[in-house]
Amino acid sequence: MNVSMVSEHASPLAALGGVDAGGQNVHVAALATALARRGVEVTVHTRRDDPELPRHVRHGAGVRIDHVPAGPACYVPKDELLPYMDGFAADLHRQWQCQRPDVVHAHFWMSGLAALRAARPLGVPVVLTMHALGVVKRRHQGRKDTSPPARIALERRLVADVDHLVATCTDEVFELIRMGAPRQRISVVPCGVDLSLFTTHGPAAARSADRVRLLSVGRLVERKGVGNVISSLPHLPRAELVVAGGPAPAGIDRDAEVGRLRRLATELGVADRVRFLGRVDHAELPALYRGADVVTCVPWYEPFGIVPLEAMACGVPVVASAVGGLVDTVVDGMTGLHVPPRSPERIAEALAELIDDPAWRRELGAQGALRARCLFSWDRVAALTLSGYERLAACGPGRLGAPDLPARV
Ligand code: UDP
Repeated sequence: MNVSMVSEHASPLAALGGVDAGGQNVHVAALATALARRGVEVTVHTRRDDPELPRHVRHGAGVRIDHVPAGPACYVPKDELLPYMDGFAADLHRQWQCQRPDVVHAHFWMSGLAALRAARPLGVPVVLTMHALGVVKRRHQGRKDTSPPARIALERRLVADVDHLVATCTDEVFELIRMGAPRQRISVVPCGVDLSLFTTHGPAAARSADRVRLLSVGRLVERKGVGNVISSLPHLPRAELVVAGGPAPAGIDRDAEVGRLRRLATELGVADRVRFLGRVDHAELPALYRGADVVTCVPWYEPFGIVPLEAMACGVPVVASAVGGLVDTVVDGMTGLHVPPRSPERIAEALAELIDDPAWRRELGAQGALRARCLFSWDRVAALTLSGYERLAACGPGRLGAPDLPARV
């Protein structure tokens, strides 16, 4: 089978942790690699954002990255990429006319627009994973939402037009149905976690014996809720917070979000217990997770959230807001604790319970590792995805129902 993935802004080759490089990059890279291990030929089409990039790069066995020239060959924030999607689609169409993929799998709404435009005239079926939804972003970010104004209307049309939608969690299914997507064209396939990298055994980052280490990992944007964790610290005198993500370490002092969070910590009198590491290399994260007592993952909303899975796979309990994918991945009272979003008091209560009970932390961590291993390997994710592709390729566009695809994990 020959699959073309489209991921306009999120390249599998990007450095992670910056404003626009996180879970989608990890997802596309890992899914493509796991599909290739199952014998699928995968091409990932992503926008060329650096003049030095060659047109094609091999990414392990069976995966080819195609750098599509669309717009300037430099970083452009993803919310400003819409005007370049016509050119992106035209390039894909030319390529697919010469070599027709069996299935196109688009990631994110703008990729979906380009993929549909390029694939529809050729009769190639299009699968779409949204990764994030404009309606949800607008609901939570209001006027701070920098998405193009047309996003919500375009997404509504898109979810009705594509041949199949892959939701990464149950919550997303409800959102998609509310947007008008036909239920029979949606299946749930979660994101996965790299179980060869994120393990319970291995080196652990050093920490001081008289403090409890809380860890937050992720892109440093306000909605990830790091500010809410900082606001919980005055109630937790034994806790320190380590924050991984954001710009490269050399750029931390110039970063606006780091500045905002540092001012908050200073106002609350906890600045000496909060440390910003900046972007941490993915390969160095397992040791950081293992060195933590609790991982805090308390976004205002979260389409999926790979970070809690990484923490679980390393055997660390997670305090997670009960939103989006975190409702499916973190089991309250079994692999971590759920809290409402944007609630420093409830975060403090949950953390206090865990801080006072090291044995319970160990038990939650062990259950988390088991759950990650059983349900969230990329190999399992690829197998579920591939069975969907096979049925879609056999039916042709527009005709795939989902009766025997998993309705949920
Ligand atoms: N990440 C990383 N280094 C950093 C910060 C984040 O490698 O300094 C990775 C993290 O390990 C995870 C991804 O970026 O794999 C973030 O994915 P998630 O789904 O949690 O959040 P998103 O970025 O999609 O909002």
